[in-house]
Amino acid sequence: MNLSKNSEILIIGGGVIGLAIARELRKRGAGRITVLERGAIGSESSYAAAGMLAPQAEADEADDFFHLCDESNKLYPQFAEELLAETGVSIELDRRGTLYLALTDGDVRQIRHRFAWQERAGLNVEHLSANEARKLEPFISPDVREALFFPNDWQVENRKLLAALGKYAEINDIEIVENTEIKSLLIEKNKIVGAETGGEKFAAQTVVLATGAWTSLIKADGLTMPFVKPIRGQITTYRTAKRLFGTVIYSPRGYLVPRRDGRILAGATVEDVGFDKSVTADGVDFLRENAFEIAPSLVNLAPDETWAGLRPRAADGLPILGALSPEIENLFVATAHYRNGILLAPETAKILADAIVGNVESKYLKIFSPRRFQAAKAF
Ligand SMILES: Cc1cc2nc3c(=O)[nH]c(=O)nc-3n(C[C@H](O)[C@H](O)[C@H](O)COP(=O)(O)OP(=O)(O)OC[C@H]3O[C@@H](n4cnc5c(N)ncnc54)[C@H](O)[C@@H]3O)c2cc1C
Repeated sequence: MNLSKNSEILIIGGGVIGLAIARELRKRGAGRITVLERGAIGSESSYAAAGMLAPQAEADEADDFFHLCDESNKLYPQFAEELLAETGVSIELDRRGTLYLALTDGDVRQIRHRFAWQERAGLNVEHLSANEARKLEPFISPDVREALFFPNDWQVENRKLLAALGKYAEINDIEIVENTEIKSLLIEKNKIVGAETGGEKFAAQTVVLATGAWTSLIKADGLTMPFVKPIRGQITTYRTAKRLFGTVIYSPRGYLVPRRDGRILAGATVEDVGFDKSVTADGVDFLRENAFEIAPSLVNLAPDETWAGLRPRAADGLPILGALSPEIENLFVATAHYRNGILLAPETAKILADAIVGNVESKYLKIFSPRRFQAAKAF
């Protein structure tokens, strides 16, 4: 086989997940690491995201997914500090918390239920009256009935995070190969040996698929890729001279994320429209309506910029992590982070790197194994 490049570990996909895994592998002393990216690194879903780190705001039970999110969130302060020291890039971790508003009878029922279980579980959550909520955020709607405050749900500037991870790669001898789309995996005698674009072949002893919404498109003889679907999310932004909000603010229909530079991100649509990243007039209207419901004073502002990204979603909406097949050695997958890939990046990177370099099997690799779908089919 004519292989043009030789790596110990090949990571396919240079989003937040692939880049975070590359960094963890380097920190654990892995050998030659290459990240192969179809376009430019950090330019897909991870770039389009709102950067909320919100394990609690939308959680209605303490299931395995909640614990995975919570553990990843707890890694963020150190992750941010380390990245700053390693690269000089601040990822703007903002720990002012998240406010979740109830504006209708249904919203009130929803947040009371959420408050009750989270309080019982000993989580950090506060139930606020409308006045208390307005004291915290004076520009929220006068129609707010009550609210929850989540002190431990934070936000990060995901584009800075991508810049930090890209810089980490650059200065720590992680090879980045852009504009290179892998079409299929190379498997010989039940062992992964690399990947190919159609023209070019890349050799590696270990391959990690961090290919987000495009994971199912990759071919491999005798292997079925996990089913991952693109789910479009549009976000629109507003710009104010002075920062209007301190916290991230949700309603059950939308959210506002205030950024340090004066932008307010209003998100997000959830659309099953295939690999179509267009911005639509309906999407912008929907976002505007939800933003105004949260903060009617935004009504005088024209949207600044709107973009769309493709969230990777598995059939059950949960991440897919771990060894792809029991028969093939050293082939891993880390995808389907759906609406929480920014939040889940540090924990995903840690458990994948532990499995690849340290041979340590996190319980999450069993829970979120790609094999859970095959097992489900057997019934
Ligand atoms: C509008 C929106 C808002 C969001 N808000 C949040 C939020 O507030 N908080 C949060 O935690 N998450 C949020 N998310 C979700 C988060 O963005 C994703 O879960 C996360 O970015 C997934 O990371 P990834 O690295 O798997 O995917 P991506 O960033 O999409 O990266 C995958 C990469 O793989 C590359 N690739 C794919 N196939 C190949 C191939 N064959 N060969 C080479 N390269 C390939 C792609 O080009 C891409 O760069 C949001 C997403 C959207 C769209």
